[in-house]
Amino acid sequence: SKSYKIACIPADGIGPEVIDAGVEVLKALSAASKAFSLVFKHYDWSSDTFKKTGKYIPDGGLDELKKHDAILFGAVGAPDVADHISLWSLRLAICQGFQQYANVRPTKILRGTESPLRKASTGDLDWVIIRENSEGEYAGQGGRSHKGQPWEIATEVSIFTRHAVTRLLKFAFEVARKRQKKHITVVTKSNAQRNGMVMWDEIAVEVAKDFPDVTVEKMLVDAMTCRMVLQPQSLDTIVATNLHADILSDLAAALAGSIGIAPTSNLDPTRQNPSMFEPIHGSAFDITGKGIANPVGTFWTASEMLRWLGEEAAAERLLECVENVCGDGVLTRDLGGEATTKEVTDAVCEEIRRSYA
Ligand code: NAD
Ligand code: MN
Repeated sequence: SKSYKIACIPADGIGPEVIDAGVEVLKALSAASKAFSLVFKHYDWSSDTFKKTGKYIPDGGLDELKKHDAILFGAVGAPDVADHISLWSLRLAICQGFQQYANVRPTKILRGTESPLRKASTGDLDWVIIRENSEGEYAGQGGRSHKGQPWEIATEVSIFTRHAVTRLLKFAFEVARKRQKKHITVVTKSNAQRNGMVMWDEIAVEVAKDFPDVTVEKMLVDAMTCRMVLQPQSLDTIVATNLHADILSDLAAALAGSIGIAPTSNLDPTRQNPSMFEPIHGSAFDITGKGIANPVGTFWTASEMLRWLGEEAAAERLLECVENVCGDGVLTRDLGGEATTKEVTDAVCEEIRRSYA
């Protein structure tokens, strides 16, 4: 069977807790399925490391990561480091260094869990959001002058290139094509933002020509928030800019039950670099060290990672086992249960062993 090298970067807050849980479940899956083996290497790149050494990623760090087939990432962010420093120094440094331009965020209401939407249950909300992950509003362009003065000016410049928008939209249409509904919603704000967003809409029309089997519709991002809440059944694949999709995908996770369940893949679709997989949530200082973090987001992340590595069957099986455990009512507090991280992890490992027995 195949062997994959996985680089783990647990980083901050609950990151180490959920990554430990994820590694345990992956080991159980590899042992029970006998389909593949995994070699994990941990990297202690975190806000603590930054406070000691002045760096999140040591010199040569990306070359080191490049030796792996995939990266499993926890969360970054500490109360005593500015968020824009921690985010740009670690997570974005990897995403940009490895041209992981497609950020993929599936969300659904898992069996056994409840949506805060009164009328929605499992099957009513099953989306995948594709987020542009290399430029846009998070290109880091802009500047500040007259810092601290009443007349200070700051600009935050969005960058949209035909190259990056085209490759991302093509990727998103490919994802839509592989899903049952073959339906894509292209989200922009092309009424108020009249340059980059209008170009997005135009490129979407061009790309759509190569996907006659996919139905396309256009939405403005503000109207989209209402649509997600009021008609979740009407959506399937959703593609949007870096900023818009960031916001929509947190909403999506909350509508599906909790920010603690959803995964994110940062993909380099050219496969020249390793892709990075992480739960959607952050470092959650408020619950760090209490043993109550929901590990489901990391389990689903692990499943997405296996799918990307080509281990489809094991990926499906893992998600099924997670849903079975949720269905049995083994839920952490964010999902209305009382289980600890460890109890959910043990239950999923047990379910995996049972499933392959
Ligand atoms: P957060 O996701 O860390 O927490 C938001 C809320 O959701 C908190 O109440 C938290 O307890 C809860 N929550 C999150 N994950 C959970 C889980 N697995 N189980 C149970 N409850 C969970 O978002 P935030 O509070 O806005 O940010 C905290 C820090 O994390 C900041 O420094 C932020 O920059 C960083 N952050 C990092 C990432 C990332 O690494 N990709 C993403 C978002 C936020
Ligand atoms: Mn976010």
